[in-house]
Amino acid sequence: MRKKLVAGNWKMNLDFDEARQLFHQLSKLDYDSKVVDMLIAPPAVYLSQLSFANSSEVILAAQNCHQETSGAFTGEWSAGMLASIRVDHCIIGHSERRSLFGETDDVVAQKVKACLDAGVQPIICCGESLEERESGKHFDRITTQIDAVLKQMDEKAISTSIIAYEPVWAIGTGRTASAEQAQEMHGFIRKLIGLQFDEQRAQQVRILYGGSVKPANAKELFSMPDVDGGLVGGASLQFDSFRDILTAAS
Ligand code: PEP
Repeated sequence: MRKKLVAGNWKMNLDFDEARQLFHQLSKLDYDSKVVDMLIAPPAVYLSQLSFANSSEVILAAQNCHQETSGAFTGEWSAGMLASIRVDHCIIGHSERRSLFGETDDVVAQKVKACLDAGVQPIICCGESLEERESGKHFDRITTQIDAVLKQMDEKAISTSIIAYEPVWAIGTGRTASAEQAQEMHGFIRKLIGLQFDEQRAQQVRILYGGSVKPANAKELFSMPDVDGGLVGGASLQFDSFRDILTAAS
């Protein structure tokens, strides 16, 4: 039985006082941590302070890292640096990184490898554009994205990795994939993992859905057999809505 995971991606939002206050509220929340994990990805500049002050079960994640271990990469940070501030999860390949910062499938795969080498668990994002879905190429697009990262993984790495299916047309648009569309793609991703490894490993991988998850649609999405929780953007910035999404996963 896979444990659910509800992850909040704060993106480039909140000043430090707001971030600290929201994180404090969330870390005091009474939720069933045996049934669901809570993960928060704040802006990188806040990570070390939140991490060293964190005495709760809330998992902290970065929203990105560089693929190299160190060197002349002004403005960047490595997976090893995250590990050194006790941040052991990192979102990789978010569609905004792919579209705004030019991250290719190959770069995403290198970043996944960098995380695994540093002992940081990647939350690997994949998703198709509206055009790809409407032209029936969504399964091909996801296959390409997933195959690129699976090549970087051994059996141990895949069973502890997390995948987030985030159709680009549903991110920040208010347009959610239906529970059936999410289930269909999550089942497909699990099948791809099973083909590359085996059924047992495939069943261990948590696959999150992301794209306009809200309290009103979370329960239905999370009730699907292959939807193991959500990666939440906008609705993670408000305490009440994130709490209600977390409750929907419990
Ligand atoms: C995201 O950015 O990962 C996301 C899913 O955003 P939103 O929930 O706002 O659609």
